[in-house]
Amino acid sequence: MAKKVTARCMMCGAADTKETPIVEVFDGLTLCTDCIDYIDRARDAALKGQTSKHAKKQEHELKDIPTPHEIKAYLDQYVIGQEEAKKYLSVAVYNHYKRIAREAARDKNAPKAVLKDALKANGSDDVEIEKSNIIMVGPTGTGKTLLAKSIARLLDVPFAIVDATVLTEAGYVGEDIESLLTRLLQNCDYDVEKAEKGIVFIDEIDKIARKSDNPSITRDVSGEGVQQGLLKLLEGSTVLVPPNGGRKHPDQKMIAVDTRNILFICGGAFDGIERKIASRLNTHVVGYGKDEALKKNQRGNLMRYVLPQDLKSFGLIPEIIGRLPVLTALEPLDREALLKILTEPKNALTRQYKKLFEIDGVELNFTQDALEAIVDKAIEYKLGARGLRSIIETVMVDAMFDVPSRKVKEFTIDADYVKQKLDQANFDKVKLAD
Ligand code: ADP
Repeated sequence: MAKKVTARCMMCGAADTKETPIVEVFDGLTLCTDCIDYIDRARDAALKGQTSKHAKKQEHELKDIPTPHEIKAYLDQYVIGQEEAKKYLSVAVYNHYKRIAREAARDKNAPKAVLKDALKANGSDDVEIEKSNIIMVGPTGTGKTLLAKSIARLLDVPFAIVDATVLTEAGYVGEDIESLLTRLLQNCDYDVEKAEKGIVFIDEIDKIARKSDNPSITRDVSGEGVQQGLLKLLEGSTVLVPPNGGRKHPDQKMIAVDTRNILFICGGAFDGIERKIASRLNTHVVGYGKDEALKKNQRGNLMRYVLPQDLKSFGLIPEIIGRLPVLTALEPLDREALLKILTEPKNALTRQYKKLFEIDGVELNFTQDALEAIVDKAIEYKLGARGLRSIIETVMVDAMFDVPSRKVKEFTIDADYVKQKLDQANFDKVKLAD
């Protein structure tokens, strides 16, 4: 039986006080009640399926956060180009996790060792760090989802991709806004504490823009109402989430989730936003003839000049824009970038095929002109990076069918082979696959 003693806590070093008395829990082992509490919670978490290693990791979370440089270096392994977006994301994610560590430090239940550690690293306790949700603007297939996925993999937190187009305001046909969090809960076996530190990628945020810049007096079911609902989630509040998604049902037991520490990353193609950017730049910059280079660029990629007011012109409400303080643009992918995507990322398509053949003991090679032929086809059909996979799949299917039964040690794909296979497959009919 544990008895009260006069000693120090052997875990955090705290002295015996009225609030946190020191207790001898086992032969000579003295702990403060804070640490006993903490161990209890860690054991509960472990019994719920978390490994003790993970529990330990949470305790040292602060030291484990990779620096922005490390985050960017990790993203570089998977995502080609998009330097600006990678930098913005790295900083935003880093700040987000510092914020979480600080919250943990303020949590009165955290043992003193963790508290001390976090406060030391975070400085004084009187500055409120605001949440840094992110919005990425850029053409489809340029890496928005890939960036969000890669970040989630690096940080080992629950991650969910959801589509804004299925959402409608409560009371209309469609899904309730809170169901955005259902996927996140499902992805961590309904461990609410874990989900509350997760990342949600909301795709196609541009599709819930209201149709005109002027607030309408008529109700806008799929636009402004949804944005208003989303606002609550983005700014951080406790919401009731239907465990199985869809519509809230009176019989369904809701799960309360606090969204304060959930990082929301939004993405959208914002088709046509270039026109809004162009008109703003014409009136404010080029009109004064200040920047010739800018003028030239208008015909190229205008997206990089995107500002919050362009999102407003596009139809996002100012409150939503205010809750997405990190705005970054993704560049369209040119020929050179597509070529790199085929070969350079850690899980590049050509590497995947090489691996598949290697398992059969066959060395697979792609000549440079074969890669160029694949890229040219993707450009010709305006398929971008998304199309590379369906093209290469079409090219490779015969080889994958035949090579395992032919006793060869090496197989080379050249440009003629690519063209022949695409002609044979009548590639015009091949469907887009992701
Ligand atoms: P988005 O979300 O912008 O529409 P995705 O991130 O889903 O586009 O990209 C689709 C696929 O194209 C990815 O799975 C990836 O294979 C490839 N891809 C797109 N952009 C890049 C990039 N910048 N670097 C590497 N691969 C990319």
